[in-house]
Amino acid sequence: MNNTRLKIKLARYIDAGFPVIYINTFEEEKVDELAASVGSGREIYEWNEINGYIDFRTKTPMIEDCTLEMTLNQLKSREMLDRKIILLKDVASYLDDPKIVSKIKGISRMICSGADATIIIVSNTLVIPKELEKFITILEMDYLEGDEIRQTIRKFIKDNDMKDIKESLLDEMAVAFKGLTEFEINNLLALAYADDGELTRSDLHLIFDQKQQIIKKAGILEMIPLKEKFEDIGGLENLKEWFQRKAKVYKNMEQAQKYGVDVPKGVLIAGLPGCGKSLSAKAAASLFEVPLLRLDMGRVMGKYVGESEGNLRKAIVLAEAISPCVLWIDELEKAFAGIGGGGGSAGVTTRLFGNVLTWLQEKESPVFVVATANDITKMPPELMRKGRFDEIFYVGLPDEREREKIFEIHVGRRRPGDLKDLKLRDLAGKTKGFSGADIEGVVKDAVEAAFAEGKNRVQTQDILDAVKNTHSLLEVMKDSLDKMTREYENRKFKNASR
Ligand code: ATP
Repeated sequence: MNNTRLKIKLARYIDAGFPVIYINTFEEEKVDELAASVGSGREIYEWNEINGYIDFRTKTPMIEDCTLEMTLNQLKSREMLDRKIILLKDVASYLDDPKIVSKIKGISRMICSGADATIIIVSNTLVIPKELEKFITILEMDYLEGDEIRQTIRKFIKDNDMKDIKESLLDEMAVAFKGLTEFEINNLLALAYADDGELTRSDLHLIFDQKQQIIKKAGILEMIPLKEKFEDIGGLENLKEWFQRKAKVYKNMEQAQKYGVDVPKGVLIAGLPGCGKSLSAKAAASLFEVPLLRLDMGRVMGKYVGESEGNLRKAIVLAEAISPCVLWIDELEKAFAGIGGGGGSAGVTTRLFGNVLTWLQEKESPVFVVATANDITKMPPELMRKGRFDEIFYVGLPDEREREKIFEIHVGRRRPGDLKDLKLRDLAGKTKGFSGADIEGVVKDAVEAAFAEGKNRVQTQDILDAVKNTHSLLEVMKDSLDKMTREYENRKFKNASR
């Protein structure tokens, strides 16, 4: 955390009379330090779940077994509130209790009408009840910038009397630590130090693994290991060509910008299930040689109003901190399920949608977005306008040539030695209406069956037998496929295949 930036913000919010400031972090000690330094002599009144109402400085209970409700009850009048900072820790789980919510609301109203007080909620989960929405301002912990990370590492080395490290390793570590707070960085340094008493290149793996865990714990983003390569995509030549051009820009961003090229924003890939959308997102990251972060829209949509926006903002901040990276927004349509539908959730989705659009439009950071969607019928046309994404593609069922290539890829992965005797063209001819995932399934089945039958190789007939036992995507979802294909054509999306 960059203390100075956060301190300035917090002090400004308190002085401006913001009633509730929600600090989204688990670094409680840092918040204590901050609150003490920005309070300008205001009394700090602390409640936490373990000890109840306590003395802020000594952390000893002021009143035994004082519940949150009892604590808030004491703050009923303006006299009781004036010149106070009310620090509430671990209260997220209480924020769906209507009694607590209405008490916080009451206090917020008094602050808005002039009481000199501020409630600071500190929690690592973001829960914003609808009734409190307009009173709450969220403060996110800042991630460290490259230079600040270098300083933190240098300080750690000095504090522990360690051998200095080479400038090049320092740079690599600074990149590896991107997207983490100061607290997390210090923890990881301590872990790396503990195993052999020094910081070496081998600690980069440890940092990467631990970082993956931290990102996972935050709950919305997932760091995907890159196994897929560009050559693993069969067909989709238009999309691949497009990605290759963007990769040239992306890998030479500085030069490209000097030349006058815009920073690539990203791409929306819509289309049928199992036809290579996810595969393309993964292959893009490996082509760009940057990490891949997956944002699951289903998980962003939290149960509380405001929670989804918080989740989304957190994911965006984290992705920007980790950039350059590819941010894969999976199942984008989930974010827009409620739009235009009226009712309670429509407001949230509309706002969420607005946030995504604004970010996409204004984004300057090298976060390349690959959004994927199955069903675009629910998605608002505004999203499809140029300027948001660099391009919009749709992926349909693979044609005969593409199917041949997909067979080659999947057989080649499992039984490379059998490839030369296979009649790939026949297989492609017999699998009209099959998706890439269907073809992969067929190959898997055929290889397994041949093994079980004790055959020493897989032949064309084995695969054709598996084809017979498979229902293609076209068979399974004929009507909706037609409808979707028409929709893509109407909206004039580019075909990913040639
Ligand atoms: P969903 O919308 O269901 O997530 P998707 O379009 O993202 O579908 P993928 O996950 O990319 O589908 O595809 C599933 C699997 O099918 C892939 O892991 C891959 O093995 C295989 N596959 C699909 N399309 C292709 C392709 N064009 N080339 C090679 N393999 C493919």
